[in-house]
Amino acid sequence: MGSHEKIIIIGSGPAGHTAAIYSARAMLSPLMFEGFMAGGVAAGGQLTTTTEIENFPGFPEPITGPELMEKMREQSLKTGTRILTETVHRIDLKQRPFVIEADSGTYTADALIIATGATAKKMELPGVDQYWQRGISACAVCDGALPVFRNKPLVVIGGGDSAAEEATYLTKYGSTVHLLVRRGEMRASKAMQKRVMENPKITIHWHTEAKEVLGDGRLLTAVKVFNNQTQAEATIEASGLFFAIGHKPNTDFLVGQIDLDDSGYILTQPGTPITSVEGVFAAGDVQDKVWRQAVTAAGSGCMAALAAERWLEAQHS
Ligand code: FAD
Ligand code: NDP
Repeated sequence: MGSHEKIIIIGSGPAGHTAAIYSARAMLSPLMFEGFMAGGVAAGGQLTTTTEIENFPGFPEPITGPELMEKMREQSLKTGTRILTETVHRIDLKQRPFVIEADSGTYTADALIIATGATAKKMELPGVDQYWQRGISACAVCDGALPVFRNKPLVVIGGGDSAAEEATYLTKYGSTVHLLVRRGEMRASKAMQKRVMENPKITIHWHTEAKEVLGDGRLLTAVKVFNNQTQAEATIEASGLFFAIGHKPNTDFLVGQIDLDDSGYILTQPGTPITSVEGVFAAGDVQDKVWRQAVTAAGSGCMAALAAERWLEAQHS
């Protein structure tokens, strides 16, 4: 197959679909590659891995992640987007038009929106698969308010800004928050560390790593930990376990093509979707390691589509 397109969108989370809806309405007839288990996640992105979404505006009754993404997909199709269920393996941004290689062939595009998202890192501990989404989460802001965590002891693993932010956030809901830090210091900024250390509801366990998660068959009940200096083991009672050990942006296929930061996130000009390659725009979690929410991803998808539309217009005027 293969074709030439005015605009191609790679990725199918809230950022990709919002970019599709806006560019289709701008009569750019976008083609989207939604991915096929790209980055280990189904087409539709990270929200397909979760249950109820309570913080996406417009849905006063909670909607599940898969349902919300199905609705976004339907809206993209309805507005005129063509969607291919394929993963993009390689792109060449040094040529004009840009070259995009997927399973069904080689495509070219005048403009490109990259919205391939990120994947939250998960720890492969005994019990994690059994209790994933049954007490274990990789997003405190998304799941922290669920009734199952209210006034219950909670555990957060990590020592970066995410861990500090999530531990602090969770003190609103949990009875107490145990923060497991594998070294004797945190990587988080001093200001975030101070907030954690001054919070009476947070207990920091230094040099501590999780070994196993325990449950009652239905829900998580405790985390088995060990001190990596003394090897002493302990069991911390917990109804919630939150991984905050970083994300991996889905940018392996972009290495050498566009400027990425040290962690692999696409670098954009602050407050814009503009990347280091003219005509290529980035939206959503693939360029955002701070906010990482469906609504912020959708917002940046809108910005990318509007920026691409303006850029394409300027090329032809
Ligand atoms: P993603 O959702 O990451 O989607 C990108 C998708 O693009 C990928 O999954 C894949 O299908 C596709 N793709 C990747 N690489 C390629 C490629 N090479 N070719 C083609 N396609 C590709 N946020 C909230 O606001 N509320 C919540 O309640 C909430 N709950 C969450 C629960 C969990 C468990 C997780 C992990 C996240 C949650 N989030 C929540 C965060 C939210 O899911 C993300 O911020 C949002 O999905 C980011 O959207 P995105 O469009 O940038 O990318
Ligand atoms: P980071 O990569 O900064 O930190 C990950 C943390 O998890 C580190 O402390 C690391 O330990 C720990 N870790 C990693 N793997 C394991 C493991 N297997 N077991 C135990 N611990 C582990 O990721 P973040 O998501 O925290 O932050 C990413 C970026 O986003 C940073 O640049 C951060 O500053 C930024 N950010 C900013 C925020 C803000 O300004 N409000 C909020 C959130 C993120 P170790 O230190 O030993 O390597």
